[in-house]
This record gives sequence, C-alpha cells and structure tokens, in this order.
Amino acid sequence: MPITVVGSIAYDTVKTPFGERERMLGGAAVHFALAASFFDEVRVVGPVGEDFRNEELEVLNRRGIDVSDIEHVAGGRTFFWHGEYGWDLNTRETHDTQLGVFEGFAPKLSDRSRSSDVLFLANIQPDLQRDVRAQLPHARFAALDSMNLWIEIARDSLVAAISSVDCVILNDAELRELTGKPNLVAAAREILTWAPGANGPGEPAGGPRVVVAKQGEYGAALITPESFFALPAYPLETVIDPTGAGDSFAGGLVGYIAAHPHEQLGESLLRRAMAHATVLASFNVEEFGTDRVARLRGAEIVARIRELHSMTQFSGAPLKLRG
Ligand code: AMP
Repeated sequence: MPITVVGSIAYDTVKTPFGERERMLGGAAVHFALAASFFDEVRVVGPVGEDFRNEELEVLNRRGIDVSDIEHVAGGRTFFWHGEYGWDLNTRETHDTQLGVFEGFAPKLSDRSRSSDVLFLANIQPDLQRDVRAQLPHARFAALDSMNLWIEIARDSLVAAISSVDCVILNDAELRELTGKPNLVAAAREILTWAPGANGPGEPAGGPRVVVAKQGEYGAALITPESFFALPAYPLETVIDPTGAGDSFAGGLVGYIAAHPHEQLGESLLRRAMAHATVLASFNVEEFGTDRVARLRGAEIVARIRELHSMTQFSGAPLKLRG
C-alpha cells in the first residue's frame, strides 16, 4: 500500500575518517524513500530550492518514487547539513544546519499523497509532523522519527505528535532524554502509555503501539506493551558513512509493513520488518550518501536477510543445570 513520507530533502556535506563529500544528495525523506521503494510505492513531500538539480530528482525517479509533491520554492535554497564523524561512528558533530526552504514550509499534500495508507513523519519540526498527520487521519499505519533538538525546544508538540502515531522510531539516547528514564525498556513502555488526550483538535485518536529503539552499530530493539525483540546490526567490516542509516532503517521497517496490508500488526510481522530495516540500514552505510542504496538490487536484500536470519538463530538446548 502506498506510503507518504514528509521530511528533509537535503544537500549534505559529510566528513568521516574515510573521506569527505560536499553537497551530496541527502535528507531524511530521501534516505527513507530510497529504502522503502523496494517494498511499495512511495510519495515524497518536502521543499527544495532553486539550487536543487535535476540529476538528484533522477535518483528518486529511477527508483519509481513519486516526486510530484516535492515543492520547488522559487528563489529558495535547499536544506543543507554539514556533519563530521570521528572513529566512533555512533557519534557525530553537526557543524552547520541551514534550514533554507524549510523556514516557512507549510506542507501542502496532493489528494494522491493524502490517500496513502501508510505515513512516515521523518525528523522535522513536530508542529509540521502534526499538521501532516492531521491531513492523513485515516492512514492505516503512521510512524515518526525525531531528534534531540525537538526534545529540547519543542517537547510538548513532539509528545502530541508521538501520541498521534502508531509507531515511534528513535535513538536510544533520545528515548531516554524524552522520558527522563535511563532504562531503555522503561522509557519505551512509558511512551506506549501516552494517550491521545495530548492531541490537538482534528488529530486522530490512537496512541503509539510500537516503539523502536535504534542503537547504531549495536542494532535495534522493538518494544510493544506485551513484548520485546532485538536484532544486532548486520556485521560489516567496512562502514564508510553512517548518515541516513536511521532513515534507511525506517524505510525498511515501514516499507515492509506497507507491503503486508492484510497482515495484522503483530509480533511476526514486526520482527520480519525489523530484519528488513536492519538490512537496508546496513547497505546504506557501506558508501557515502545515497550511493549504495540507489544502485541496490532486491536480490541483494534477500541474500542479506537470509544471512541475518541464520546468524541470529539458536536452538533450544535443554541441559540439566546444576542447582
Ligand atoms: P540520520 O543519519 O538517519 O539521522 O539522518 C541524516 C539525514 O538527516 C541527513 O541526510 C540530513 O540531511 C538530515 N538532517 C540533519 N539534521 C536535520 C534536521 N535538523 N532536520 C531535518 N533533517 C536533518
């Protein structure tokens, strides 16, 4: 079932211990859309400036992504982000963020984007996330990502946005900061109690049913009111650029769920979605920017899913224990 994603479409300048790239195609919505496009039809909503080149749109077009709701703002500049990673690729320093066309952005969704059954609110200002959520009140499944900045400067709005979706996908540190709970499971379970009472007028009822805690190179955990599941990251010997790993992960997870419209959002579906999320993220970090996922083939995903499956299985081995 079609997926609508709203979020940043960006130029990224990134430095890692393995090199530096200037003004490459990036943005949360872009990384998400490329990953999700392996599973279903994706519609991207977000603004770009006059500096945005056709060759970047072509990267999305080649994956069959619907770019008709990308708003081209006359005289505007595309969102720009400049980050640097040290040898610990789990942490990064942001040198510069230029909002450009995101300043004053008011999401205008076409009927087509509004008719999607699945919605992903990538990391943007939580008021914008709520605005878009209110434009898709009947979406079967809505998920959201955010970042520490919004926890710190727009917490109430973020809590309201979270209360309006089914699934929250955050880094473990963000979950802890958001809830003030140092224990990850306790933090996630608190979010699962957030009632839609925090919603504004016109926002749909619901409340999150699933929390996914991303843990960088250590993998990700899935927490629901009844269950817990975790997967390690796919073990790679070479990671070149982690930018967008979280969004590719979300694209794999949400895309896989979108591709199973008739299956209940239960443990089995969620666990398989976690595996696909893990695999998509692993491809993303193998090269700079969108390079690897843009030329990825479905067969490569299938092969890596098989490997991940075999490396995370163990058999019950009954043993008479001493004591
Ligand atoms: P991730 O590595 O998954 O957190 O995503 C990185 C992507 O998010 C980059 O391509 C950036 O362009 C984009 N990004 C960085 N900061 C922001 C921000 N404040 N708002 C929206 N997108 C951002």
